Amino acid sequence: TPTTPHTAAPTAERTLVLVKPDGVRRGLSGEVLRRIEAKGYRLAAVQLVHATPELLTQHYAEHAGKPFFGSLVEFMLSGPTLAVVAEGVRVIEGFRSLAGATDPTTAAPGTIRGDLGRAWDGAVMQNIVHGSDSPESAAREIGLWFPGL
Ligand code: UDP
Repeated sequence: TPTTPHTAAPTAERTLVLVKPDGVRRGLSGEVLRRIEAKGYRLAAVQLVHATPELLTQHYAEHAGKPFFGSLVEFMLSGPTLAVVAEGVRVIEGFRSLAGATDPTTAAPGTIRGDLGRAWDGAVMQNIVHGSDSPESAAREIGLWFPGL
C-alpha cells in the first residue's frame, strides 16, 4: 500500500499583511517585517501604498454597513500603508497568531498588537497590522493590493 512519505514537501501558501497607517506613522514597519522574518516566513513582495477609498471599500467589503466602517476607512486613508506578501507553510494562520487579537488593549503580550498596540481615542481600533484570515481572503486581498503579482 502506498504511503505518504514524511519527507513530502509541504505546500507553501501566501498571505497579505498590511502595516496599517498607525504602524507606519509610529515607525513600526521594520519591527513587523522583523517578526515575520524571525518566525521563518519569506517576504515575497513589499510596497508602500497610499490606499484609495475604492481599494478600501473592496478590501473591507465584509464590513460594509457596520458602525465602525466609516471610521475604519478614514483611518486607513490617514497615511501610507505597507503592503506585504509573506510566504511559508501555514503562514495565514501563523501570521494571525503573530498579530494577536483584534483589540490591542487585550491582545496577548508577545503578539504584535499586544506588545506594541493600545487604545488611543478614536472610534476605530488602531491595531498596527492586518492579516488575511483564509486562503480565499488571501488570494482576493493579494490581487487587490498587488495587481499583477
Ligand atoms: N475594527 C474596529 N472595531 C471593531 C471591529 C473592527 O475598529 O469593533 C477595525 C480594526 O481595525 C480591525 C478591522 O476593523 O482590525 C477589521 O476587523 P476584523 O474583525 O476583520 O479584525 P481583524 O481580522 O483585523 O483582527
